[in-house]
Amino acid sequence: MAQVTCSFCGRDKKDVDLMISGIHAHICDKCIIQAQQILNEEVKTKANAGDAPEFKLIKPIDMKRHLDAYVIGQDEAKKYLSVAVYNHFKRLSQNTLDSDIMIEKSNIVMVGQTGTGKTYLAKTLAKVLEVPFCIADATILTEAGYVGEDVESILTRLLQSANYDVAQAERGIVYIDEIDKIARKSDNPSITRDVSGEGVQQALLKLLEGTSVNVPPQGGRKHPDQKMISVNTENILFICGGAFDGIEGHIANRINTRAIGFSNQNDASKAFDKENLLKYVTAQDLKNFGLIPELIGRLPVLTHLDPLDLDALKKILTEPKNALIKQFKKLFDMEDVKLTVEDKALDYIVTKALELKLGARGLRAILEVIITDAMFEIPSDKKIKTIVLTKAYATEKFTKSKYNHKLKAA
Ligand code: ADP
Repeated sequence: MAQVTCSFCGRDKKDVDLMISGIHAHICDKCIIQAQQILNEEVKTKANAGDAPEFKLIKPIDMKRHLDAYVIGQDEAKKYLSVAVYNHFKRLSQNTLDSDIMIEKSNIVMVGQTGTGKTYLAKTLAKVLEVPFCIADATILTEAGYVGEDVESILTRLLQSANYDVAQAERGIVYIDEIDKIARKSDNPSITRDVSGEGVQQALLKLLEGTSVNVPPQGGRKHPDQKMISVNTENILFICGGAFDGIEGHIANRINTRAIGFSNQNDASKAFDKENLLKYVTAQDLKNFGLIPELIGRLPVLTHLDPLDLDALKKILTEPKNALIKQFKKLFDMEDVKLTVEDKALDYIVTKALELKLGARGLRAILEVIITDAMFEIPSDKKIKTIVLTKAYATEKFTKSKYNHKLKAA
């Protein structure tokens, strides 16, 4: 048989891991990898050649529709996010030379109880837009010089999620979670210096507004020798979220104070939905909660998330594209087992989730404790072709679980 060599590098077939044959030529695995790298470089150079990187401009109504496929309820937040993102991208596409009107950044702050979908909304948004996305936790941030992470470290994650493509990262989305945890602890800023709170808020200002920041590509301070990468945050959209526990008190106070001016005070306060005061949240309430006015000013879009009721939780279990029940059904499907979940079992699960006060996050935890035994046993039992999750089964498994103990202890 004729000797087979790579038509590109001349290596012999026996010296390479893989040789692919064409009609008149052969190529080895090493040359394929090298060719792929050349191709990647070429594509990147072409993409960078334009004035601005390409982005998807999705109209607000279409964006909301995309979000609807994944996130249940939260209509106001979806609407605000869709418009803010649309304006953000319009801002990116405006020709600054032509215009005296500078469109400002539309950074967003979302107020809502834990597990109601703040992170999930931001994540889904980034997925639809196909831009780099990262989640940062405000509680790990400190002012430069203190133990903890510098605010610049937020951008390390964004760079990583953009595969260190700076141009891509510079139009990404950053979600800063637990922004409420860096609130000023006392109303009087002069009493003591508040390391964890106000200082971090100050440090965040520049980042949110738009500035060039030196980012440690490996993050943290563990690698003092790393070469910094300069990232401009001017076109990065920042979305902040927090539960703002106790802000309802500030909202209620404000509403009541206003109501005093009315001739019939009862009428004025009756109109408010006392079960969901968050929907009346304003910048003033954020300030009273302990965010500094400068930070609030850099987060001009303020929206809230509704608490999830039984109905919403049930929908979350079954309706979204990757709803939990659909995921579990799929897992069983792969074992050729058909899983059916009784409606009453669903009701039981959502009732327990509501009691746990973890929002939708509780759903997964509860489902896991209910279904893990079945997941453990069924792959080894080929006779089982269908399983029905009944309320009785769900109750039995949940009652034995740590979550039930937690509920009892509460
Ligand atoms: P948080 O408001 O605390 O940021 P998350 O967005 O992290 O809450 O929600 C936790 C999980 O619960 C999400 O990953 C998602 O699977 C689910 N979830 C929360 N809210 C919703 C919702 N409104 N619609 C669909 N799923 C949701």
